[in-house]
Amino acid sequence: MTLLPDAAKPGTPVILGVPFDANSSWLRGAAGAPPIIRVAFNSDSSNSWTETGVDLGAAGTYCDAGDLKFTFDEPFAAIEGKVGELLDQGLRPVCLGGDHSITLPIIRAFGKHIPGLTILHFDAHPDLYDELEGNRLSHACPFARIMEEGAAKRLIQIGIRTMTGHQQEQARKFGVEVIEMRRLPALDRMKIDGPIYISFDMDALDPAFAPGISHREPGGMSVREAISHLHAITGKIAGADIVEFNPAQDSTQITATVAAKLLKEIVGKMVLN
Ligand code: MN
Ligand code: MN
Repeated sequence: MTLLPDAAKPGTPVILGVPFDANSSWLRGAAGAPPIIRVAFNSDSSNSWTETGVDLGAAGTYCDAGDLKFTFDEPFAAIEGKVGELLDQGLRPVCLGGDHSITLPIIRAFGKHIPGLTILHFDAHPDLYDELEGNRLSHACPFARIMEEGAAKRLIQIGIRTMTGHQQEQARKFGVEVIEMRRLPALDRMKIDGPIYISFDMDALDPAFAPGISHREPGGMSVREAISHLHAITGKIAGADIVEFNPAQDSTQITATVAAKLLKEIVGKMVLN
């Protein structure tokens, strides 16, 4: 029986599906991810314990707000509004995308509730373009907007392997701390004072491990490298997202299983830290 947000104690992690992929520049499909990640997350093929010793099957460990329904509101306003509502309840939102553009409205809500946020951003891409194909809200741009708006204090990117000259300039302009894929492991860099927000783009992983994504970029993290870096985080985790899983590209369903595993380990760390 899934715990609903209204019944949860403050500080409880809350899962929210955000089925939105209209700002994808290459392939659509990420909007279909949230229910598929939930099925893998709840699958009896594994048990409910995290590697760090947290039983997510125990009553009250996390709650689930279901999937966001887009009605008449502008989509970004709807996302910011819903995440803000969960933060008002004292909960710690974990959003399942969706393409990476959703992180902008999510962080707008966090910025209003939690000052001094550090974003730890796992990705093959820096997502710092000023605009892409004329779209300033593209999934290639969210971190440029977040830093311009001052919605977070610090941005640490890890797994990056597609840096362009323009994005290097953007990273310098915004003071982004970039840990390139070729520099891994960087476990010491995960010692961060809270509050921390984890934004996990599934393409940070090597496509050999997680082919169900829209932009396959070889040379990425193994699932183990990703989990080791997540486990090494020291500060309090205020929220997280897992984005860019594209079920239409996931013929063996392995990426769904990987996304569910990361969700489990992230929620487990939130409970512990
Ligand atoms: Mn991204
Ligand atoms: Mn990416």
